[in-house]
Amino acid sequence: MWYAKMYFSEKKEFFQYDAAGTQGAPSVSRELPFLESLLSFLEMDCEELVPTLRRITENWSRLISEDDRQAGTNAMAELGQLKQRHIYLELLYVHWYDRFSKLGVFNDRGSDEDRQMLDELRLLPERLPLYQKQIQRFLELVLNVDNAGRDPQQQASRNYLHNAPKDPELFVFHPIPLSFEPVEPGRCSPVLYSGSIADMIDYCLRSCVERGVTVRRCKNCGRWFPQTGRVSAEYCERPVAPGQQTCREMGAFQQWTKKQSDDLVFKVYRKEYKRRFAWIRAGRISDTDFYAWSEKAREEKKKCDSGALSLEDFTAWLRNS
Ligand SMILES: [Zn+2]
Repeated sequence: MWYAKMYFSEKKEFFQYDAAGTQGAPSVSRELPFLESLLSFLEMDCEELVPTLRRITENWSRLISEDDRQAGTNAMAELGQLKQRHIYLELLYVHWYDRFSKLGVFNDRGSDEDRQMLDELRLLPERLPLYQKQIQRFLELVLNVDNAGRDPQQQASRNYLHNAPKDPELFVFHPIPLSFEPVEPGRCSPVLYSGSIADMIDYCLRSCVERGVTVRRCKNCGRWFPQTGRVSAEYCERPVAPGQQTCREMGAFQQWTKKQSDDLVFKVYRKEYKRRFAWIRAGRISDTDFYAWSEKAREEKKKCDSGALSLEDFTAWLRNS
């Protein structure tokens, strides 16, 4: 029996797929950062997939109704292409591959299972964008730390009545097929045996709530990221471009440079302040004049801190004021 397994471990998510159901030797095995599958699904251009999905549906329908083997082979070839687009789409490939190979052996086409599978294909062009909208809404109302706060449990319980969302655009949870098994040496974990793409989305969203994981938009790339570490994190850990530093590393460097330049501004200001303060004692300046100057100097420093005034201009102002 084919399977599409999914489970979480630490800050990672794991996917294992096998069309023949060979436990322990999956044909596809993938490891991703926690929540990456859901967030990349959210960014997928579903419109682009529609023509392919329609062709697969047509070919599969011809296979079922007319026993057109060539149409079946074409559908499988296109499903093979489609699965490259997203890890969730791999499920379609293993499930349909399993059915396709059994059709040759048992010749029992036209069963309830066939009709269900055909319906599933037919509905995907409208379901995929619908799931995207529902996920987006769930992020906004439940998981977004800047909008919904730091407690997803609180927000989730506020937004659902029994198993129904109060907001009609919010994700609808269903029972999902969870098992429990050893996933790495010395550790067992719940494992999802996905029956559909919706199962995987469901498992991701409920896991965030259970684990208290919030999300935020990255200050650099604008993509959502899960806050699996510090809740104050503002940058994601994805590379800015393939093979390059991550948004977080870049953000840290920018902050470091800003701090360095802030320090320089403070240094020149402090130096001039001390110099003029000493003038009071020497009788070169009155208290009142000194404080009037220092007030003006603080104004200029503020301009410099905000970037409205360059360090050179600020230094010149200090010298000539
Ligand atoms: Zn980023």
